[in-house]
Amino acid sequence: MSDEIQEAPEQVEAHTCQYCGSKTRADIVNMALWEGERLVIITDVPAQICEKCYEQFYEDSALFKIDKLRGTRFPKEKAQEVIEVPVFSLKSVDIRIETSHPVKGGNPKDEETSKFAGYEEL
Ligand SMILES: [Zn+2]
Repeated sequence: MSDEIQEAPEQVEAHTCQYCGSKTRADIVNMALWEGERLVIITDVPAQICEKCYEQFYEDSALFKIDKLRGTRFPKEKAQEVIEVPVFSLKSVDIRIETSHPVKGGNPKDEETSKFAGYEEL
């Protein structure tokens, strides 16, 4: 990995991460944003991406175009496509360690060590 020292500070400003000060590179990204109750996805967004922390900075022209779309409330007839988006709640994600998987081959000790297997919450 290169840790080059920037030698032209007057040119760097527009291409430096505002958070960590690392170099950014130009890329085209997608973004998702809420418009009231609707989630809309915007593709082909020109952005600068930090090579270190991956923070994205959108070009002014992109923000202007997004504002223009927002001004027209993201008309559905202008959408490139409409996709189905799955929604997950972290309330339903269990990160407790599973103890209820018996080892294949059957170790007789398993019955004693699996005393937590019956522990369940809603
Ligand atoms: Zn950064």
